Amino acid sequence: MKTKIIVSKFGGTSMGDYAAMMNAATISKERTSSIVCVSATSGTTDKLIQIAKTAATGNMPECEKLIFQMKERHMNLLEQVPAHGSESGNILLAYFTELELLAQGLTLLKELTPRAYDLILSFGERMSSVIFTEVVKSQLPGKDVQLLDARTIIRTDSNFGRATPQIELISTAARMLKLDGNTVYVTQGFIGSDSDGHTTILGRGGSDYSAALFAEGVEADVLEIWTDVAGIATTDPRIVPEAKIISELSYAEAGEMAQYGAKILHPATIAPAVRKNIPVFVGSTFAKDAAGTWIRASAEHKPAVRAITKRSDQALLTITTPVMLNAYGFMSEIFGVFGRHRVSVDCVTTSEISVAVTVDKVVLDNEKFVRDLETVGKVNVETGYALISLIGNDLYNRSNLAKTIFSNIEEMNVRMMSLGASPYNFNFLVKEADAKTCIQTLHQNLIG
Ligand code: ASP
Ligand code: MG
Repeated sequence: MKTKIIVSKFGGTSMGDYAAMMNAATISKERTSSIVCVSATSGTTDKLIQIAKTAATGNMPECEKLIFQMKERHMNLLEQVPAHGSESGNILLAYFTELELLAQGLTLLKELTPRAYDLILSFGERMSSVIFTEVVKSQLPGKDVQLLDARTIIRTDSNFGRATPQIELISTAARMLKLDGNTVYVTQGFIGSDSDGHTTILGRGGSDYSAALFAEGVEADVLEIWTDVAGIATTDPRIVPEAKIISELSYAEAGEMAQYGAKILHPATIAPAVRKNIPVFVGSTFAKDAAGTWIRASAEHKPAVRAITKRSDQALLTITTPVMLNAYGFMSEIFGVFGRHRVSVDCVTTSEISVAVTVDKVVLDNEKFVRDLETVGKVNVETGYALISLIGNDLYNRSNLAKTIFSNIEEMNVRMMSLGASPYNFNFLVKEADAKTCIQTLHQNLIG
């Protein structure tokens, strides 16, 4: 019988301390994971960003302090693993020496290149995986537990900060992995390498995506995302405490949810699973026997509205041109600018002479992007919005839905809305100050 291939990913809180790592190792054992992909220990990526930025200001004493704290935490963690190999301690020490040298280099140059930034951020996952390999070894004495450098498999382009994976190269590289049921690979999420061998990262929260890419590469039977919440909820429980864990949803719904603000999965995670039709499980390391959420090609139960998400800090850009009347090509010019600057558009509506799009407000920090857009037409910017998305099924064929939605939030101004492109999603834009009440009201009336 062919061994079932399970790829499991553990997030930062699951690597947060020795007890959490033990939980994660127990899960890997029970689930018979072949590939275990881990995040940096909680808070470490933020600290590495701080180190990189501090170094670029020339403040080496502050960098030394931060690196020292990181070293203490990680060496302490390793010390807690009984009978760990001395080799792992040496690897960690070498990492800290390298990190210090890098920081020194940056303090001298007083500049932070994108390439250096990715390299510095990669240390978080590299450190946690060294320690976690020892923890897994202690739990699985009969298995061949190996530390795998994710950079040998996750090949990407050179778009530092948010590199794009090269799917073909990843699949080819993944063929060298031994999937014999006895080998367990512990590897890093978040990181990869480009064609010159430089370290790259997949963007914040990218470990989920890495795990999905590994799962695709080895054509896994199951991808498991282990985090610190017991699955995907009907909405953010901080907004609606009665929000429930969704037992099952489709790839399409999960993809929309991740894209439109559900924080639990990195938005790109679903695509590799879809390509190889791999079921995805989302569960909590700290409630490992709870039911969790399953994401599959199609869900058995298909309610109109399954979940409500919120994407905060949205800006609405309205691009207007007087010459658009009966003209063509205006849209392609606008989206050409978005494409060149790699700015993702979430929601679009058009009229005869203008196009309105929502984007994350941070993209406005890129002045060149705004200037380029201004060459196409007059640009009006409004901020302070949240994009609310109702995620469900067959949304554009539910005759009473719009009436139900808007009668529930009558007193709120809906600045823009979009329905019709996807049967799984109904988006609308409200003032950030209205968002919470909007979600609470709709959740109570549409989901219960
Ligand atoms: N450690 C990375 C981050 O904090 C990647 C991840 O945890 O998914 O963004
Ligand atoms: Mg995460």
